[in-house]
Amino acid sequence: MGHLQLPPGKKIAVNLGTDFDAQSLWLGGFNRPTQSFMSRGQFGAEVGVPRLLELYSRFDITTTWFTPGHSVDTFPEQCRKVVEAGHEIGHHGYYHEIPPGIERDTERRLVDLAFATYKNVLGLRPTGYRSPYWDYSEPDSSTSSRSRAFSTTRA
Ligand SMILES: [Zn+2]
Repeated sequence: MGHLQLPPGKKIAVNLGTDFDAQSLWLGGFNRPTQSFMSRGQFGAEVGVPRLLELYSRFDITTTWFTPGHSVDTFPEQCRKVVEAGHEIGHHGYYHEIPPGIERDTERRLVDLAFATYKNVLGLRPTGYRSPYWDYSEPDSSTSSRSRAFSTTRA
């Protein structure tokens, strides 16, 4: 295990990550596709994203926005602004699905669908992944679609 090298004069480090889940959280994990929940996701995209971009810009902070493919397809302009501001896009599933609740083939299809969306809409391929729900579908992750998708894409 390595040690964190801080810049001279600095005593702490903070890692900020942003989940741009928008409506996918309510569709994929919570299965609440009602008007009320969808409006929460829309508010996050249309009001929350500009506010966070302004805040990060004010303090000269760049971070990783873990963004499901559904958010990219639904709110492409907001996602382009995130990228244009210099932030990284991280893979975060397609529908913010719950990995232990889906079959391996479905998980693989959704990982690939999100990759296609990132490429088609934003012209990039994320190298980082944050599991929706911080959980995994298989006890042996060496054979999982996540491992296959991310362990060979660092170049
Ligand atoms: Zn999330």
